[in-house]
Amino acid sequence: MAQELTHWINGQHVKGTSGRFGDVYNPATGEVVSQVPLASQGELAAAVEAARSAWPDWAQTPPLSRARIMFKYKALIEENADELAAIITAEHGKVLSDAHGSLTRGLEVVEYACGIPQLLKGEYTEQVGRGIDAWTTRQPIGVCAGITPFNFPAMVPMWMYPMAIACGNTFILKPSEKDPSCALRLAELASEAGLPDGVLNVVNGDKVAVDAILAHPHIPAISFVGSTPIAQYIYATGTANGKRVQALGGAKNHMVVMPDADVDQAADALMGAAYGSAGERCMAISVAVAVGDAGDRLMDLLKPKVEALKIGPGTDESMDMGPLVTADHLRKVSSYVEVGIEEGAELVVDGRDYSIQGYEKGFFIGGCLFDNVTPGMRIYKEEIFGPVLSVVRSPDFDMALQIINDHEFGNGVSIFTRDGDAAREFTNRIEVGMVGVNVPIPVPMAFHSFGGWKGSLFGDTHMHGPEGVRFYTRQKAVTSRWPTGIRSGVEFTMPTMK
Ligand code: NAD
Repeated sequence: MAQELTHWINGQHVKGTSGRFGDVYNPATGEVVSQVPLASQGELAAAVEAARSAWPDWAQTPPLSRARIMFKYKALIEENADELAAIITAEHGKVLSDAHGSLTRGLEVVEYACGIPQLLKGEYTEQVGRGIDAWTTRQPIGVCAGITPFNFPAMVPMWMYPMAIACGNTFILKPSEKDPSCALRLAELASEAGLPDGVLNVVNGDKVAVDAILAHPHIPAISFVGSTPIAQYIYATGTANGKRVQALGGAKNHMVVMPDADVDQAADALMGAAYGSAGERCMAISVAVAVGDAGDRLMDLLKPKVEALKIGPGTDESMDMGPLVTADHLRKVSSYVEVGIEEGAELVVDGRDYSIQGYEKGFFIGGCLFDNVTPGMRIYKEEIFGPVLSVVRSPDFDMALQIINDHEFGNGVSIFTRDGDAAREFTNRIEVGMVGVNVPIPVPMAFHSFGGWKGSLFGDTHMHGPEGVRFYTRQKAVTSRWPTGIRSGVEFTMPTMK
């Protein structure tokens, strides 16, 4: 019997009332393990009411008190890390060690949010005029909402709500309907840490819930992470409705391998970055741009490594890679492999029709490797979001740079080289938001901010870190004078400082 999941509203589990449910699978077995309620507009509105009621008191709670709850929350997440990672693996499919790693990257944002008293300190100028002082301060904005993708059921929500809450806002999280259980458990733990009811709410759902968020007059800010077409839709609709929106989209991340690089090291880095989490990472490397004679050496190393990938259920600690998230996604990734063959790319390793004894109904695919991919091909241009690595050959550095700068997406990129000059030139001229030098997945730490360029991000601010504080607060500038005795009388001219 599939378990019926709930929403988390006003500090408690709430059953869905819309009558609509989505199936949640265990991707390793292909079985439906639970049914997630898909919220109606009315259910979303009830959560917003709870968040609105909680806001005035939470906004007035001193930042230090909010930070103390964050410290307790951090400890609780650490204590419950094994359980949280197991929930991620059960619904997403990624291997347990990877689930743990992604949870840690989310936890780092909670750690950053523990410093909120320092982060919210404003600026003060004494004597902007005679006897006049001025200061700027940042205040919370109200009920914020976050809409998140399936591929990081803990980390991506944790890019958002710890920062929003620490800044004094209340929050509605709409997690992916494909793997919603981790968000519910994280909300329970926040309550256990002392977060007042209504400050963090989880509303499960699909487009209906998202559209209700976009239309709701009392949600002033929306953070979104997901695919580019939906990110564009969220940004266009949310901003048209007068909201501030940060909407992070899809990616096609390149790794340039220069002829002088340590090609062994680059091949190992590519394996983890392309096939880790079955390629379902927004920072996965899906294109290697091999410059000059690096190409042949790289292919010789990659082919046997891809063929040797250990693929199985994420609960088996010896596996490199688990299944894809759903049968639909498996069909989509497999069909891209077919497209690549039709387009004339050379399929060096074919991972399709991969079956594992005991897990025949799981959504597994083996690692796939294409050589001689060219920028005009769909498998180069479009995001596949699976364990498919394309190798593009480039005669020189300038061409490699141009290919990447011409791509629609600009999330992450990496260069492997021993030449500091090439690396410096690359980091300076590349039109991508997050750049690695001999680092394959350059995900910024929580105290920097995360975000891509071009079709990978719509909006002005990146997520978490200092940009997160700016997104979840609004600036107030105060000019103050305490006149005693001096009376200047009525002035009709524009005030200027004398
Ligand atoms: P998705 O766009 O299908 O879904 C993301 C969220 O949007 C989900 O909560 C979903 O319920 C909602 N949604 C889906 N269709 C909708 C619609 N028509 N109208 C309104 N809401 C809708 O993305 P996904 O498949 O869950 O996640 C994978 C995608 O997320 C990939 O493209 C990946 O690159 C991207 N991603 C990007 C980053 C980043 O930092 N840029 C990080 C993680 C994932």
